[in-house]
Amino acid sequence: MKRNAFVFMIITAVFLGMTAVSGFGSPKNYWQQDVSYEIHVTLNTQKNTLTGKERLVYKNNSPDVLNYVWFHTYPNAFKNNTTIYAKEMAARGSSKFYFSGPKDRGYVNWKSITADGTPVKWRYKPGDITEAKVFLAKPLKPGESITFEIAFFVKIPLVFSRLGHKGRHYEITQWYPKVVVYDRKGWHPDGYHATGEFYGEFGTFDVWITLPKDLVVAASGNLMDPASEIAFRDSLIREGEKIDQMSKKERKKYLKERRKRIKKNRTDEAKTLHFRAEKVHDFAWFADARFIVKKGTYKHTSLYVYVLPKHEHAWKDAVQYVYDTLQNYGGWYGEYPYKQMSVVDGDLSAGGGMEYPNITIISAPHIPFLRVLEMVIMHETGHQWFYGMLGNNEMDEAWMDEGINTFSEIRYLEKKYGRKGNLTDYPKWLSFLPPIGDRWTAHFSYFNYAYHNMDERILQPAYKFREGYAAMVYHKTGWMMFDLKQILGDTLFNRVMQTYFKEWQYKHPDTEDFVKVVNRVTGKDYTHFFNEWLKTTKKFDYAVGKVSQKRTNKGFDVTVNVKRKRKGIVPVDVRVTTKDGTMQTRRWNGKDAVGRLKFHTKKKVKEVAIDPGRNLLEINHWDDYKPGQLDAAFLFSLPNFYKQQIFWGPVLWYYEKDGVQTGLWFRYGVPVMNNPTIDLNAYYGLSSKRLNRSAQIQQDLPFFHRRSKLSVQAKNAMGYIRNKVELSFTTGPYLTRPPVQHVKFGLNINKIYDLDYMSQKDWSLGKETQAFVSYSYFTRTIRWRSRNKVTLEKGFKWNLGKFDYFRASLELNQTFRWTKLFSTHFRFYGGYASGTLPLNRRFYLAGDLDVEQSNPLVLDRQGRFSPLEGYYLPGQGNLRGYYGIFTNGVHPASKVIAAFNLDFPVPKVPIRIFYDVGNVWASTQNVDFGKLRSDAGFLLDLKIVQFVFPVWVSHPVLGEKKFKFRWLFGFSIPNLSF
Ligand SMILES: [Zn+2]
Repeated sequence: MKRNAFVFMIITAVFLGMTAVSGFGSPKNYWQQDVSYEIHVTLNTQKNTLTGKERLVYKNNSPDVLNYVWFHTYPNAFKNNTTIYAKEMAARGSSKFYFSGPKDRGYVNWKSITADGTPVKWRYKPGDITEAKVFLAKPLKPGESITFEIAFFVKIPLVFSRLGHKGRHYEITQWYPKVVVYDRKGWHPDGYHATGEFYGEFGTFDVWITLPKDLVVAASGNLMDPASEIAFRDSLIREGEKIDQMSKKERKKYLKERRKRIKKNRTDEAKTLHFRAEKVHDFAWFADARFIVKKGTYKHTSLYVYVLPKHEHAWKDAVQYVYDTLQNYGGWYGEYPYKQMSVVDGDLSAGGGMEYPNITIISAPHIPFLRVLEMVIMHETGHQWFYGMLGNNEMDEAWMDEGINTFSEIRYLEKKYGRKGNLTDYPKWLSFLPPIGDRWTAHFSYFNYAYHNMDERILQPAYKFREGYAAMVYHKTGWMMFDLKQILGDTLFNRVMQTYFKEWQYKHPDTEDFVKVVNRVTGKDYTHFFNEWLKTTKKFDYAVGKVSQKRTNKGFDVTVNVKRKRKGIVPVDVRVTTKDGTMQTRRWNGKDAVGRLKFHTKKKVKEVAIDPGRNLLEINHWDDYKPGQLDAAFLFSLPNFYKQQIFWGPVLWYYEKDGVQTGLWFRYGVPVMNNPTIDLNAYYGLSSKRLNRSAQIQQDLPFFHRRSKLSVQAKNAMGYIRNKVELSFTTGPYLTRPPVQHVKFGLNINKIYDLDYMSQKDWSLGKETQAFVSYSYFTRTIRWRSRNKVTLEKGFKWNLGKFDYFRASLELNQTFRWTKLFSTHFRFYGGYASGTLPLNRRFYLAGDLDVEQSNPLVLDRQGRFSPLEGYYLPGQGNLRGYYGIFTNGVHPASKVIAAFNLDFPVPKVPIRIFYDVGNVWASTQNVDFGKLRSDAGFLLDLKIVQFVFPVWVSHPVLGEKKFKFRWLFGFSIPNLSF
């Protein structure tokens, strides 16, 4: 083993030496292709189509001879259900595109293509119609140019992803035949994916757009001509200024008249606009007759905001956001060099926002008291640097654009509004709500995946991520950059970023290029740092260990042990604070299992802190401090990553028997973050003089299994003692999506000692000891959802227990979606029990009794507050027409059950029509399917509550008709529809 380690060391040393050598020097052998596009395109707003002619001069600067050239034919992503995009969306369970009609979809057709005037052959990439391979008649040698002429036709889809329209609102992106990047790694015909972005060759775009005269156009590049269009835009800018000056009332009146005017001015008469963009790698444009235009200036750059009237007010500071972004990024990385920067209101078409050279489309809503709109506008504007000018491959190395840009976004918000609460902007009356910071949300997002061991390698193609794309690529990388900044210090970090920008502007940097810049500027090798963060899912966790202090004649010799608890290795800063508040910080390389740091202090040390700047992303920060910190957190507090917290709040309730009940609840830890979590509740009935109380401990077992949990519960409340030990396992490839398998087993020891709280019809006094096991499986395709569960229970006469039984049940839930609008839920429920059962363990024909007593504090169990008497809980036999209120208070229940439920949702309204059939029997001997009961009716499903109308029942109570207006009220907590 040692020999292997030695060989490894030598290899490492050689490797480090090599990177050090190759690390010095600018990108000498670097080359990239040149492109120059001329596109003439006509928008038909009647048919929502584009007809275009493209002339592309392509220069081969590579050392290779090219026999073919790839083009993106991205609009084909929206052609049918077999495209990669369509399949990926369907796999996520998103049905919007899957069920869309042909008229809402889109595609591109090439009518002709020539290379240097000669028609050439081409074909789609096998299995992907968003990439086309064009075969050259004669090879393109290094240094040579070739001119392609392509006549193309695009059918514009509705906005599903990026390219699209919404009525007469157009978002024309990923639209023209775009040559695929050929770089040091070869061609990149990666296709259009549900997750993942783009990569483009830098060059010049001259685009002539012909479209109806009344449309306002925002585009990449600069508007060159005609003069009439420049005058039109100027008039809109003046109008924008005028609107800014208006009072609320004036504005409302003006916008109303404006809307009428725009409608009246609608025309098919055409205009042709010429835009020119240089040193960019893509061209996008947007058109809408309603845009209000606002203008600002930053140095030599014109800033334009194109906002729809309905968002005009929410966007009132949008120009300022763009200004602040250009100023901040300009100062941090390098100035914005282009003449214009535009931000376009995307009519909330597709979530978030999307970046294009010189222009960005924003679909984020304005949410009151949150700075989400500012965050999205500045983030997308920031992409002008990370992706726009530093044109990395967004598909393969998304951390370089999304990650570094998320870091910059957080940096912007923290600079402008502070680290704490920079995303929230509460008025005084809401100041009790917790402040939320952008870095906190990134922390939480990463943590959620990492805590469940669902984290994924950052450095992999975007479409290969299971679920953690945002958590890893945006949020974890954001933190990596803060850690890098912490390690390098601000001055060196800024020099690194400015050098990177200067050397790689208008080029295609990759991860290695970035690391080389870091190594060269700092004079140190940070390769390992980036490998740990980007190429592994190792977690970081350092903890303060033993601290010893020895008095000397000058003060104290302090030794601090720092433990590395996980595999991830990064340098860590350790700070000691003495009693008089003096601080000293040392850095440890973090490599060994334990590091020993020595300090000499004048006074005694009172606190030791790891990563005092809080820039390192660890899986546990509580052990970063000695002494540890504990905080009491009232009601509206957010989880704190750095301090242990006890959340608490008051309980106030009234119940007839207890009178006013008052008490407190406490919670230690947050279930998705901490281990263990502890809950305590205690509330006292002022009349009954009874103390209701409960305690629960939950411990995740992440090392034992990906998601497993041990929970121990003890409760004595409202006449019911419940003790439970449960172990549960959840497996599935995703954190939040099916397929999911869930296994639970455990032991219940219950005792009902006071039936004043529960209906005697349904509950038995006495002690019950029960072992249980259940297995459930949830899966889904775009047309079919299936949730099934089998449960086995065994009651024991143990320690004065009264009940001795066996009980088994099976629930099968299937939903079929036949078309976009029509679906059917099928449900089967069957159960068998034998022995002496408590009443509440019988099978109920009509619905659930809530035998788990999910919340006795809220739902009492007497008379009209009893689930089978006054309201409906979906479950068990679910024969909705046989509830207690329809059967003179009788709750049909017994030891054997078979029931079948059918639900047909009515399209577009929250109404379902249902039919139920089934019955209960005393034992398997007297099962008689001839005596099945059935019912039918409809229900109003308002998600949390339901109003159920079983207008027909086969076995009405004596004297009642089968058809009758009946209704009941239900809580759809365990819903039939999922
Ligand atoms: Zn982004």
